[in-house]
Amino acid sequence: MMQKVQVVVIGGGIVGASVLFCLARKGWTDSVLLERRNLTSGSTWHAAGNVTFFGHYTAITDLYIKSIETYQTASEESGQEIGFHKTGSLRLANNREELAAYEALTPLYDRLDADYRVILPKEIETIHPLLVTDGLFGAAYTPGDGHVDPTSSTNALAKAAKLRGAEIRTQTPAKTIRRTSSGWMIETEDTTYLAKHVVIATSFWAREMLEPIGLNIPVYPIQHHEIISGPVAELQSLDFEVPAVRDPYAPSNTRQEGDGFLCGVYESDPKFWATDGIPPDFKEELLVPELERLEEHLLRVIERIPAFGEAGIKKVNNGPMAYSPDGLPLLGPVKDMPGLWLATGFNIGIGTGGGSARFLAEWMNKGRPPYDLSIVYPSRYGNNITKDDALARIHATYAKGYVTPQPPV
Ligand SMILES: Cc1cc2nc3c(=O)[nH]c(=O)nc-3n(C[C@H](O)[C@H](O)[C@H](O)COP(=O)(O)OP(=O)(O)OC[C@H]3O[C@@H](n4cnc5c(N)ncnc54)[C@H](O)[C@@H]3O)c2cc1C
Repeated sequence: MMQKVQVVVIGGGIVGASVLFCLARKGWTDSVLLERRNLTSGSTWHAAGNVTFFGHYTAITDLYIKSIETYQTASEESGQEIGFHKTGSLRLANNREELAAYEALTPLYDRLDADYRVILPKEIETIHPLLVTDGLFGAAYTPGDGHVDPTSSTNALAKAAKLRGAEIRTQTPAKTIRRTSSGWMIETEDTTYLAKHVVIATSFWAREMLEPIGLNIPVYPIQHHEIISGPVAELQSLDFEVPAVRDPYAPSNTRQEGDGFLCGVYESDPKFWATDGIPPDFKEELLVPELERLEEHLLRVIERIPAFGEAGIKKVNNGPMAYSPDGLPLLGPVKDMPGLWLATGFNIGIGTGGGSARFLAEWMNKGRPPYDLSIVYPSRYGNNITKDDALARIHATYAKGYVTPQPPV
């Protein structure tokens, strides 16, 4: 069967669902989202859902803020809760340089009209009573952020998009994509779609998917661990949820999860997964955890939050996460291929997915980007980056994910 549509979105993670919803809000409802398995099947279902407003670039921080707004709008339209916990976040300064760098970011937040403060150890103690502040110089504090439930948020986006008239097909892999003189031809088992626009929101599947049409997408999956602790009595005795803590010393992020902690670790020597191709039968799966690799980092987390060490480990998740060489997504049109758009390579897809989708939908609707966000355009990589080069750069970028930020851009 052949079906003509205005736009096909491929991939039903938080990014694809956000794109479908944001396009629907622009009136693009002659649309279909194709998902090979179920919504959230890729990385979205196991993400921690952290959304921090802390960022080094004005434009990226703006995407964080707009992401929460987008999920909240979808929630209002659909009636589906998104599980937003507005805990705020602390980014710790372990030395003078880090504190100075955080102070230098203040004008960025003034421009965005977002609440951002650099606070001293005494204030940190009242905001996060379980954090040991010895030796700390202070922290950047963003009270407006926190975490959402990634699956509920994706469902809210999908439901709101459907209410506006978009179609969603799960268990429907896109098999091939071809450019023809009348538009983009996307083949599934039972239907061939002829679309004016196609948005690739397939995360680390994008590279293999687009190779047949001559594109070289430098996005590979890297392993990312998170540890969920047992219950922490001191947390239960508080009448508020403690803020998320990002610590460049560990480097890690640790937030409250129910009556325990959830800690995501950024290893200095991370491992890749499936760089020769994603196994075709890959489902909603996690990878084998390798706790011994995290030991040094976890000991540093425990130095700051001793209660985390005392609570014991309830669960360790090791999940594949898409990564591009500079750690930023590939968002925007593909050069010389009119109608083909990328929304892929997100490693903070919950944090930036909603805002990125809003940006992309405005670009698709108006035919020009709403503002300059060239740091994420796919064209920055050209088409000739080698696999070895891409992997080496991804490894280095992941390992320095928490270094002191550069002055605001
Ligand atoms: C342990 C862990 C913790 C994380 N925590 C956070 C966090 O706290 N905050 C944060 O912002 N990010 C976090 N992330 C990253 C986050 O999970 C991803 O950035 C985000 O889920 C990416 O969303 P996506 O929609 O781009 O990709 P995915 O969720 O992977 O979705 C891509 C979808 O495309 C589908 N697909 C692929 N090929 C086809 C095809 N041919 N046809 C149709 N469909 C197809 C897949 O089935 C999949 O559902 C974490 C990641 C890990 C591993």
